[in-house]
Amino acid sequence: MLDKLKKIMTRLVFPDGLCCILCGKEMFNNNRADKYYCRNCMPKRNVHYCRLCGVGLPTTTQNFCNNCLNIGKEDLNFDYARAPYLYHDEGVRKIIHTLKYGDAQYLAEYMAEPMVDVIKEQDWQIDAVTYVPLHWRKKQKRGYNQSECLAKHISRSLNIPMISTLKKTVYTKTSATKLGREERRKLLEGTFALTGENIRGMNILLVDDVMTSKATANECSKILKEGKARHIFVITYATSRGDSEQTY
Ligand SMILES: [Zn+2]
Ligand SMILES: [Zn+2]
Repeated sequence: MLDKLKKIMTRLVFPDGLCCILCGKEMFNNNRADKYYCRNCMPKRNVHYCRLCGVGLPTTTQNFCNNCLNIGKEDLNFDYARAPYLYHDEGVRKIIHTLKYGDAQYLAEYMAEPMVDVIKEQDWQIDAVTYVPLHWRKKQKRGYNQSECLAKHISRSLNIPMISTLKKTVYTKTSATKLGREERRKLLEGTFALTGENIRGMNILLVDDVMTSKATANECSKILKEGKARHIFVITYATSRGDSEQTY
């Protein structure tokens, strides 16, 4: 009884983020890292990354991932990509999954914060914020587009307008994330189109929840370039590790 009362009282003082989103343990001042994670589960920031595509690197001695070092092997259509976290981190995967499938749009504001921090560290001149679209049927099913939710908060924080520049014209299954890089690239080819919004000469910030194979960001950037966008910067909440990308 007393326990229950204590719980109710805590809930009144801390209306949300009472339990760690990963381990489920109740959080108090002594074990709380932030609103959603306990100290044990708080993900670590992606601090050593490829200066070009942003994937995580194992050491500080390296400035570029192997793919970017051998540019030409992989043509990137965007200028730079960055992400505050790594997708291999269990806590990161959990929060992205919850945002996507847990009807948890409220998480977008919290997740946008570190993304904004990372953007501010860059020397990016951004004219407009846009996002990776969902096919209308998928958006209808889910009720929202998680990348659009993130973009909305980023746009607000940076005080830069958000525009809908892209649409998904072909429905692709989510299981496509399990495919290899080349298969994924082929599968996505021609599945995005411009909405008709004028982006000529503009520097665009493209927002997505996660970058795994770079295929989505790359295909979207290709279309934005066709619309004559000048520079394209990609920001995601999480990215892959450059040393073991194939496993994602
Ligand atoms: Zn925890
Ligand atoms: Zn790279």
